Amino acid sequence: MNLIPLGVGGAFTSRFYHNNYIAEIGTKKLLIDAGTTLRTSIKKAGYSYLDIDAVWISHLHSDHVGGLEELIFQRYWHLKNDIHHPMKTHIFVHQTIYPLLRQLLSFPLENGGATVDDFCDFTVVGDEEHINFEGLQLHIFDTSNTHIQGMASSGVFIRGPLGNVLFSSDVKDLQGANLMRFINTDTVAIFQDTSFTSNGAHALFSDILAYYPKEVQSKIYAMHYNDPIEDYVAAIEQAGIQYVKEREAMTFTLN
Ligand SMILES: [Zn+2]
Ligand SMILES: [Zn+2]
Repeated sequence: MNLIPLGVGGAFTSRFYHNNYIAEIGTKKLLIDAGTTLRTSIKKAGYSYLDIDAVWISHLHSDHVGGLEELIFQRYWHLKNDIHHPMKTHIFVHQTIYPLLRQLLSFPLENGGATVDDFCDFTVVGDEEHINFEGLQLHIFDTSNTHIQGMASSGVFIRGPLGNVLFSSDVKDLQGANLMRFINTDTVAIFQDTSFTSNGAHALFSDILAYYPKEVQSKIYAMHYNDPIEDYVAAIEQAGIQYVKEREAMTFTLN
């Protein structure tokens, strides 16, 4: 699996793009979240909306879903030689978020007799299910109330026969989200939203070092981080963890 960070910044970043990724798995491309900066970040990384085979939406903050409407419309209104070749968008979503996402999309999409289903196909899963995707299993798990109290949210655990990757998306209460249940000797990377300043929605760097056992900390990649990242690089390096950088692809052997 190649993982390309389209952006690495937090919701209010004025320097980076939003924390969205393309996972190249086999011959397919999975878009991990679609924030409002996607319209620029996807092109900057050399991809187009038409390249995407499926989109996973972790939760409904605009840095994760604000660019989805445009992606859906641009694919639907795809023209070839001036002839309409609509491309539906395949969305992976946890069952707790699905009705909310459908409602959100209904406002721009359900006009003139159209329904959300004219534009999108959904694969809706619960914690006990997984999606088979190019030889890997995608386990989308519920993290509701651990990012923001009262808010539905999810993370994804990507598992293959040779390795696995945990992607937290946005989480503040690491204990409550019970992320350690996914970590084992096959884990090659833990993508963890990381804040270096007090806030109400994301794990602090110190919380992360307290939560994850020492022996797995070298597998952590800080993401969704504060703009002045240079101010924190010394602490990151001293802790022996890593941090994602925009458009620097990472390769993990999972199958
Ligand atoms: Zn976010
Ligand atoms: Zn969020």
